[in-house]
Amino acid sequence: MKNFYIFTDGNVRGPFPPETVAMMLADGRIDMQTLLCSGKGQPWIKAADVGVVIEELEKIKNTAQAPKPTQVLYPTNANHPAAGNPPSPESVAESANTAASTQSRREVVFYCPHCSQKYSGSESWLGRDINCIRCSKSFTAIENAPTKADRTPSQSSAAQAAQSVPNANSTENKVSSATSAGKNSMEFFDWENSTGELICPHCWVKFNSDQLLYIASHPALTGDPVLGSMAQKRFLPTIFNARGQALDEMSQATNDLACPRCHLKIPATIIDEKSCYFSLVGASGTGKSYYLATLLNQVRKNMSSDFACTLLDVDPEMNALLDGYEETLFRSTRRSEVAVLPKTQAAGGGHVTQVTLNNISVNLPKPFIYELKHFISNQTIKDCNIVFYDNSGELFMPGADNLANPGTRHLACSDGIIFLFDPLNDAVMRTQCAQEEPQLQSDKFVYDQLKLLSEMISRIRRHRNLNVEEKCQIPLVIGVCKHDAWQHLLERDISQLPVRQSCEGELAMQWVQNTIMDVSFELRELLFKYAPALVNTAESFFEKVIFIPFSNFGCFSSPADADGGLGVIPEKINPLWVTEPLMALLAENSLIAQAPLPEGNISPANAQIAEDFIILKHPENGRLIRLPWNYSGVVITVNGKQYKLPHHPRSNQQIQDKVTMLGKMNNDLWN
Ligand SMILES: [Zn+2]
Ligand SMILES: [Zn+2]
Repeated sequence: MKNFYIFTDGNVRGPFPPETVAMMLADGRIDMQTLLCSGKGQPWIKAADVGVVIEELEKIKNTAQAPKPTQVLYPTNANHPAAGNPPSPESVAESANTAASTQSRREVVFYCPHCSQKYSGSESWLGRDINCIRCSKSFTAIENAPTKADRTPSQSSAAQAAQSVPNANSTENKVSSATSAGKNSMEFFDWENSTGELICPHCWVKFNSDQLLYIASHPALTGDPVLGSMAQKRFLPTIFNARGQALDEMSQATNDLACPRCHLKIPATIIDEKSCYFSLVGASGTGKSYYLATLLNQVRKNMSSDFACTLLDVDPEMNALLDGYEETLFRSTRRSEVAVLPKTQAAGGGHVTQVTLNNISVNLPKPFIYELKHFISNQTIKDCNIVFYDNSGELFMPGADNLANPGTRHLACSDGIIFLFDPLNDAVMRTQCAQEEPQLQSDKFVYDQLKLLSEMISRIRRHRNLNVEEKCQIPLVIGVCKHDAWQHLLERDISQLPVRQSCEGELAMQWVQNTIMDVSFELRELLFKYAPALVNTAESFFEKVIFIPFSNFGCFSSPADADGGLGVIPEKINPLWVTEPLMALLAENSLIAQAPLPEGNISPANAQIAEDFIILKHPENGRLIRLPWNYSGVVITVNGKQYKLPHHPRSNQQIQDKVTMLGKMNNDLWN
């Protein structure tokens, strides 16, 4: 259908589709005398004489439900020139521009009674039913008696909004309303309990796509109540051009989206595709940044050859930090000199973004966002986003989870966790490690890593609202790092074991789950000897626990300075099984193909199902072992002999759940 330019306030705007023009008419933003034109060289015609627009207008009038306020109303937002807030000094110039458009109608202000979203618009809205753009509930627009809040800058509309929220009694709200003076009524929304189909990768709030803010692109539009005076303005779009791009108040088109709460940029792919959030947890000195850098490098290298998919940078600007790590280790020009990555900081240092939420300065960790794209689109395995976080070790310390540092809250929406366990930093296990490893020279990072695991579990319990008996269903991978320093403790050379397997008739390879679970069993036995409480704690809370050995470097670290700082020599790097912890999480989330478990003539293990567990009598020493049910059907190797574990009923149920989940995802496409 044809789009139209409109001539208003001495400017040509648009082009807009006829239904948008009709809504402007309905709203009173333009009137029947406003001139419309369908393009250069075409005549300007009064709106009253443009058939398609009048037809659309009739449709709007005939529909009992009012048109969506997103498109017609200006939710009050100090950013918007038509908002009901008094002009602040810096916006006087803009007000002068828009005065012409607002003089002809009386502006009214009303609030959504459910979530207190403020609206301002022409009085024709009063008495009509509106679907709230924020909470999606419907309400009838009733004018609020004009109050001081709408007139004096010191008594903000935000304060009024706060009063109308039944539970807005916290001191944070009061403090904020007194100081941020009508900046943004958004701040008073109860984000802690919000719901929606999207999750912000920065602050993990749940919301719906119609709550997304846009980032103004005109360079003059700066100043944001959450991000500070230097940031580009954020706004709820009211006008779109024909290409579907939102227009900022200077009529500049923008595609950049931002979270309604923390106002940080959200890549569009987060809106379009399912996202998997993977959390990396580990104490200081475990080498989390080294791990992420190596992982990224190896995944990029191997994903396409092994699994016929690629990992794309969704937003190079966001991933710059991790790309920098990768460059230091793998694309360094001085490959024989020791390379060192900076320590991940809890605040500053480029690892976190500082925002102001409820008047508190908050440090949010920067997410690393990649898109997993399959070469051949597939019914069962979909493209998705993968989001990682690199938290500083300190943030996982007991007591470090507070309002100003909510940096580990991603654990609450995580789809899988990689817990890095460093044997070299374990007081007992380090005595068993190869003494040539320079890391053993210092005990600076020696720490009871069980404490960290327990703290992580208590945070997950708290943020997921799990009761004391409830177990966590997301998979936990305990990645036991620096394999090169303790490999002699394992029976087998894992570099010789098959972890990829080709499959007849398929281009992509399969991930050999049995190899990983077999090694997981052996490693579990090893850790049980040195750190039994760690194994028990993990398996009592997580339903599925997988132990995976790996080595970032495949070589010892190298002294980097006189103070005992360590690094690695790039040309010596030869990673081993670095991708397997991630592959295990991808496989658990049905994102890569898995090889079926071996069947056939394998002697059954002496084992029994008991609730969520498989109780195994060790074939050699007769000890009883309680394994989580994710060992269901796995063939384990003990002393060179193979034993098949029984099938646990839970694993069949999981397959069922996956089928229903995929069905649901397909149905969603039609909604
Ligand atoms: Zn609402
Ligand atoms: Zn956010």
